[in-house]
Amino acid sequence: MERISWNQYFMAQSHLLALRSTCTRLAVGAMIVRENRMMAGGYNGSIAGGTHCIDDGCYVIDNHCVRTIHAEMNALLQCAKFGVPTEGAEMFVTHFPCLPCSKAIIQSGIKKIYYATDYKNHPYAIDLFQQAKVQLEHVPFESRSLEPLLGSLGPKEKGG
Ligand SMILES: [Zn+2]
Ligand SMILES: [Zn+2]
Repeated sequence: MERISWNQYFMAQSHLLALRSTCTRLAVGAMIVRENRMMAGGYNGSIAGGTHCIDDGCYVIDNHCVRTIHAEMNALLQCAKFGVPTEGAEMFVTHFPCLPCSKAIIQSGIKKIYYATDYKNHPYAIDLFQQAKVQLEHVPFESRSLEPLLGSLGPKEKGG
């Protein structure tokens, strides 16, 4: 039986989380992982119980939707809420993090970021990651390679 790689497994998880995003501008998902275990996850969305962009439209200031908390930030805040250490952990994220998220990721002690899609990769964010010795690895999400694996999960045909 073929097995999914850890990188593709966590990348798939971050893409599943992105499907929960409530902002129509960009669906982002992020997973915090330690020693191949999922610690926390987040997606691009409003505060808990708040108004959703998908219901009321985005709240745009200076071409940014200010209603949502970014996926990376939500994953880090989930760790804060439940007292999960982020020092030395890794993050899998669907898109290259924005500058404010990059700073929060660095300051939380995350040591490596795997991102699937380049997204306005800010040169200053890249510079800060280098200064902080946070590794960046581009891991494109291979959704097509999952299909045969997912197919093997269905009910087995009874032998005749
Ligand atoms: Zn929005
Ligand atoms: Zn961000």
